[in-house]
Amino acid sequence: MSETATAPDVRLEEVVKEFGETRAVDGISLEIPRGSFFALLGPSGCGKTTTLRMIGGFEEATSGRIFLGDRDVVGLPPYKRDVNTVFQSYALFPHMTVADNVAFGLERRKIAKSEIATRVSEILELVDLEGRGSRKPRQLSGGQQQRVALARAIVNNPRVLLLDEPLGALDLKLRKQMQLELKRIQHEIGITFVHVTHDQEEAMTMADTIAVMNQGRIEQLGTPAELYERPLTAFVAGFLGKSNLLEGTVAGDGVVRLGDGTELRARTDGSQGAVSVGVRPEKISLGEGGVNRLSGQVRESAYIGVATEVVVATAVGELTVFHQNVEAGGVVPAPGSHVTLSWSPDATFVVDRREEISG
Ligand code: ATP
Repeated sequence: MSETATAPDVRLEEVVKEFGETRAVDGISLEIPRGSFFALLGPSGCGKTTTLRMIGGFEEATSGRIFLGDRDVVGLPPYKRDVNTVFQSYALFPHMTVADNVAFGLERRKIAKSEIATRVSEILELVDLEGRGSRKPRQLSGGQQQRVALARAIVNNPRVLLLDEPLGALDLKLRKQMQLELKRIQHEIGITFVHVTHDQEEAMTMADTIAVMNQGRIEQLGTPAELYERPLTAFVAGFLGKSNLLEGTVAGDGVVRLGDGTELRARTDGSQGAVSVGVRPEKISLGEGGVNRLSGQVRESAYIGVATEVVVATAVGELTVFHQNVEAGGVVPAPGSHVTLSWSPDATFVVDRREEISG
């Protein structure tokens, strides 16, 4: 098959999926460059799994086009697409050894036995399971079984690996460990990973690029830092981490006026009229050091280890501040105290007036 060197590994053009009356995916276009770790992130029901299943061929698009490399794959069954999928349920063959589970796909392709053995042992080493090939899946922990599932999916070197909430069944500690492992493995083998998750921290830990989905559409696409530092909508600001959003009106280039007349300097980027102006809790200082200032009264403060979370009531609403616990026993103002909050204009973003966050 001829292939242009620059073709993205996955390309979706205006893809729509309807289930009866439900429009699960509402016109998605995106390109996933070769070798990237791409995450589809969004709340339950936003259409991310359906999008992944259409790339894998488990679901047919109602309209639109899907390409893997240069090849239009609409109408092709899953086994004819150069992709493999890792699901949350490992779906290993329980009666077969780990090595046989991994070798399964290669054996069906009639590859020489010696080559299969070499390849299986290389892949088991990659996923940190060397020496475990003769065990049965039930003799492994959940995290190890998921590594076997991963090994089985990458052993025949697919163009794209689809991951459907692959860490959902693991406990939090193991999940965090596996996030870094998956990222390492993806870097080592360089296969394009497309990962579906509703967990923003998981997406940010692993992916180079994240598409934030809401109600069947892509709300914003970017690197984790772009989405976090420069959200374009209230939905993205609220879905990735915590945001303080205050209602205001653009009063000039780079200026937003709040309900009480306070003016904040912000990156207005051409916005006009009624907006929400946002700042992340960790960008706010207790004190007058920054250009943007609001004063208020401490409602609550809670020590959460890396920071103390302080909720401050101001004339324009409550703001949450994450005050870094740089020194042990550092003093945080007690509930009832009056404080001034300040932060930098560069940390102040503007989005359309907060729409209802679904999810
Ligand atoms: P979750 O994280 O809960 O899996 P999701 O973002 O992956 O959510 P999808 O599973 O893609 O969302 O579902 C999107 C919408 O399509 C939902 O409203 C869902 O009920 C609907 N849907 C998905 N699959 C089917 C189906 N086979 N038949 C009918 N409706 C479906």
